[in-house]
Amino acid sequence: CGLFGIYGAGDAANFVALGLHALQHRGQEAGGIVTHDESRGFNVVKKLGYVRDNFTSAETMEQLPGRSGIGHVRYSTTGSKGHTTLRDVQPFHGDLAVGGVAIAHNGNLTNALQIKRELIERGSLFHTTSDTEAVLHLMARSFHRTIPERLKDALRRVEGAFSFLALTSDGLIGVRDPLGVRPLVLGRIGDAWILASETCALDIVGAEFIRDVLPGEMVTIDDTGLRSTMPFEPQRPRFCIFEHVYFSRPDSVIGGASVYESRRRIGVELAREAPVEADLVCAVPDSGTPAAIGYSQESGIPFAMGIIRNQYVGRTFIEPTEQIRNMGVRLKLNVNRAIIRGKRVVLVDDSVVRGTTSMKIKDMILDAGAREVHFRIASPPTAWPCFYGVDTPDKDKLLASSMSEEEMRDHIGVDSLRFVSLDGLYRAVGEETGRDPERPQYCDACFSGEYPVQPSDMIEMGRIS
Ligand code: 5GP
Ligand code: SF4
Ligand code: MG
Repeated sequence: CGLFGIYGAGDAANFVALGLHALQHRGQEAGGIVTHDESRGFNVVKKLGYVRDNFTSAETMEQLPGRSGIGHVRYSTTGSKGHTTLRDVQPFHGDLAVGGVAIAHNGNLTNALQIKRELIERGSLFHTTSDTEAVLHLMARSFHRTIPERLKDALRRVEGAFSFLALTSDGLIGVRDPLGVRPLVLGRIGDAWILASETCALDIVGAEFIRDVLPGEMVTIDDTGLRSTMPFEPQRPRFCIFEHVYFSRPDSVIGGASVYESRRRIGVELAREAPVEADLVCAVPDSGTPAAIGYSQESGIPFAMGIIRNQYVGRTFIEPTEQIRNMGVRLKLNVNRAIIRGKRVVLVDDSVVRGTTSMKIKDMILDAGAREVHFRIASPPTAWPCFYGVDTPDKDKLLASSMSEEEMRDHIGVDSLRFVSLDGLYRAVGEETGRDPERPQYCDACFSGEYPVQPSDMIEMGRIS
């Protein structure tokens, strides 16, 4: 999901809408904005679909007055997956004994079921299927006297990955979980403060990037300025390495590193680890493009746009049903026949999950007359589901969970298939000596199976042992 919040700007909602538009790649199912206005209090608009279709008309934006606001773009990983209803669209808001609050969450809470069960036993009525709602109920039951204290109290009880925004009648709060699995950055425009999932959302409104919110940090912004506290037990950070591979936009900078540059260097690593004689390097656009450029630069094999993407179709994998996903690839990508015919092609993509995309692309490219097809994948085999806010299917649907690299090559039906090594990936994101096996510098559970936070709910539901 994507988050954007602003405090202290006229027309806050317009900033939020622009920020969410820049973050649309993080969630395309729905979006919501809550603002606060001195005279009108909290204002809420939530809609299914794209920001550009929902938060551009004067009629809608007039419903969102105020100098502060937060917004969320949704991509379902829990709850009503694939059939989002308005009830599940964030921000969630409520009136606590100490004042009104709206909250928005990127990530996934791994013990939400347990907490929800306890809360229901004690009388809470849940309105949504979202894990995030539990935090609002925990805040409602807390005995602390301020909203930041209640939020801390609630977040100390939950486990998993969370970047949170909270809007109150007189402030804006941002929090990252102690491992800092999901991103959150701080920016400034004029006298206003901004919190956003990625720096590309600061760029779109012309705001200045100040710094990342730190893992485990809570920042509280109000008319007196910004305060920082560290409410959790300190832990070694484990940022999601997959944000560098796929999830973030390539023009964002996370943890001081350019996402584009990380991706390009993954391609360089791939060219070193898995060279091949070929005529062209092509990307599966858009997510494979920077790595394909890196592969081409390092190997000296020319880069060409062998596959063309229709710009008007969103990310395939985010559209949730199998049927739509299958249709999606053809709607979205087409082979540039004129340049592919008779060529030995290196095809670079960011990841293989179910293998659906790779199979389709291989068919299309052989159909167009390619002589050889060599797949190069800019991440290690995805053999484990993510429980921290990226929607991967159950383990048995992941190609790499039951097949070796060789078996996957046969299954997909290409001349060769190679994945970047985990060490190569770490080098590409700036860890010169690779992955520290004793203390891995990132979360890489979808590749290694080493989950930095125990996925309690999933174990309970039998979705993993
Ligand atoms: P596949 O077709 O193998 O199931 O999915 C791989 C394609 O989906 C890649 O082109 C990649 O860009 C995209 N993708 C990237 N990350 C994910 C993810 O976490 N889950 C899913 N389902 N697809 C992803
Ligand atoms: Fe990121 Fe993978 Fe960890 Fe999920 S399991 S947080 S996608 S690295
Ligand atoms: Mg892709």
